[in-house]
Amino acid sequence: MRLLIHTGGTIGMVPSDGGLAPGAGVVEAAIGSRARIHAFDPLLDSAAITHADWNRLLDLIEAEAGPVVITHGTDTMAYTGAALSQALDGWPHPVILTGAMQPLGAGGDAEANLELALTAAPEPGVWLAFAGRLLPAGALVKHNSHAADAFRSVAEPPAPGRFRSRRFADRALGILTLSPGMTGAMIAGALATLDGAVLRVFGAGTIPAEPSLARALAEAVGQGRRLRAVSACETGGLALGAYAAGAALWAAGVENGARETAEAALIRLWLSLSQET
Ligand code: ASP
Repeated sequence: MRLLIHTGGTIGMVPSDGGLAPGAGVVEAAIGSRARIHAFDPLLDSAAITHADWNRLLDLIEAEAGPVVITHGTDTMAYTGAALSQALDGWPHPVILTGAMQPLGAGGDAEANLELALTAAPEPGVWLAFAGRLLPAGALVKHNSHAADAFRSVAEPPAPGRFRSRRFADRALGILTLSPGMTGAMIAGALATLDGAVLRVFGAGTIPAEPSLARALAEAVGQGRRLRAVSACETGGLALGAYAAGAALWAAGVENGARETAEAALIRLWLSLSQET
């Protein structure tokens, strides 16, 4: 019988005074005896997921050493999908994430998504069972905040490497989106609190012309902070050297995230700033 790790999310939510919130026993009642359930306590709206939760999931998955299903909220599914995909590179068993846009029992997508996750037998790797499809979970985009078909996968999974057990260390990392009019002081203020950051830049890799911005990026890199650029566009990625308006980015020592999603780039930075276990 498969292990199902229930972290929370809409799939198992019930109404509360403040809106939908995780409800104890909802997923258990739907599953019956079809899986062994390990439920997070407390159950989480996935907005509350942190790197400590990714480490808990990795502990449970590696101890199971077999197929695992994970129920998870959709809001940060792309982060957890990237975290597990990269940390479990080369792991010889499938991990199947699922969730729903409406709770179980509401006549929506929850029952079908859960059924797909419980019955699918994909190749090793990390997958998302959602809206009738199994998507590789390493580069997910939640492109719709209401419809049942809420996700797409924007990259092919890379060829698996050799498995090494890895965990996420306590690091201060975030995603910063550049926008017209931003200055070096704005970015430097945020970077002063961070070990590194993903920069969402324009198009194929351009940034605002403000000279203080380029200086702030170069200073942060000089201080040992890791900066990784990705495109604010959903697909296509960065083309290093395509525009003069991006030259300052590469001169500053910012890393090229190429076609990575912002979530996947954040996880790449995080793992490279963490020790192997
Ligand atoms: N806020 C919910 C969550 O991410 C949304 C969902 O699950 O669809 O936990």
